[in-house]
Amino acid sequence: MDKSAKIYVAGHRGMVGSALVRRLAAGGYSNIVTRTHAELDLADQAAVNAFFAAEKPDYVFLAAARVGGIQANNTYRGEFLYTNLMIEANTIHAAMQAGVERLQFLGSSCIYPRDSRQPISEDYLLTGPLEVTNEPYAIAKIAGLKMCDAYNSQYGTKYLSAMPTNLFGPNDNYDLANSHVLPALLRKAHEAKVAGAEELVVWGSGRPLREFLYVDDMADASVFLMEEGVEAGLFNIGTGKDISIRDLAELIMEIVGFKGRIVFDAGKPDGTPRKLLDVGKLEALGWSASVSLRDGIALAYKDFLERYVR
Ligand code: GDP
Repeated sequence: MDKSAKIYVAGHRGMVGSALVRRLAAGGYSNIVTRTHAELDLADQAAVNAFFAAEKPDYVFLAAARVGGIQANNTYRGEFLYTNLMIEANTIHAAMQAGVERLQFLGSSCIYPRDSRQPISEDYLLTGPLEVTNEPYAIAKIAGLKMCDAYNSQYGTKYLSAMPTNLFGPNDNYDLANSHVLPALLRKAHEAKVAGAEELVVWGSGRPLREFLYVDDMADASVFLMEEGVEAGLFNIGTGKDISIRDLAELIMEIVGFKGRIVFDAGKPDGTPRKLLDVGKLEALGWSASVSLRDGIALAYKDFLERYVR
């Protein structure tokens, strides 16, 4: 990527998009284009077409999406399917029409089958049924990555897809009902400590295994793929290591300094039993994660205290 190339980061206010903007700025990229949701609704086809025709970016990072944790995915099933399909279809199609040279579409590891062999290689896509709680989101993301492949073959574009594992870090969503597990437990542990409470409520059984990646590592991998000149295909982004939800809760309690006990809420779903990504394809190109889970959580906690706690 040329340092002066025009790069559109879609979703720059979100956790991933804001990390991409930080990473690109730090890497010397000087021509980054962004639009807030109020300025450009990516679900509005006419508005997206007009934006691309006027701006004609050279590169696009498609980090805009309707996202959330297990409960949000399962509650807003229609919205997750509709909004994500619209964002992807409008953005990828308008990019192709405006002659965008290269694009990176971002999704998530929930695109893979629920009971997939572990660790999950990119080749296991569409080899089995999806996890029900996030099926609408996963179907939309599978459509997006297949759209990149289809456009590459029909129109000669160079659009690739990156599927990160569970992400966390600055700008995360700390809403207790709609967030992912790591920010939710960070907030709950902090509030329990401040309130002098004795219990931390953890959803489900605590047995599911999840892999967590600090969002700045994710942004670094994403920019790395573009800088390496990767033009197509599907890439997992993760650490290659996972942890049980119970152990994650204990680690978070230790970092936050909350000394109570864990109580499991069996009324909440566990979701997929395990989703550990096989990151061999990315590592073979020369990239691996650098922030440890412990350091990442400490950084996220610092950001939480600065940004969310007054
Ligand atoms: P998932 O990876 O798509 O299942 O999404 P989440 O990050 O929302 O949840 C991961 C796992 O953590 C699931 O087994 C949840 O039941 C569990 N979990 C435990 N406590 C919480 C919590 O407070 N919030 C969320 N979102 N998940 C929790």
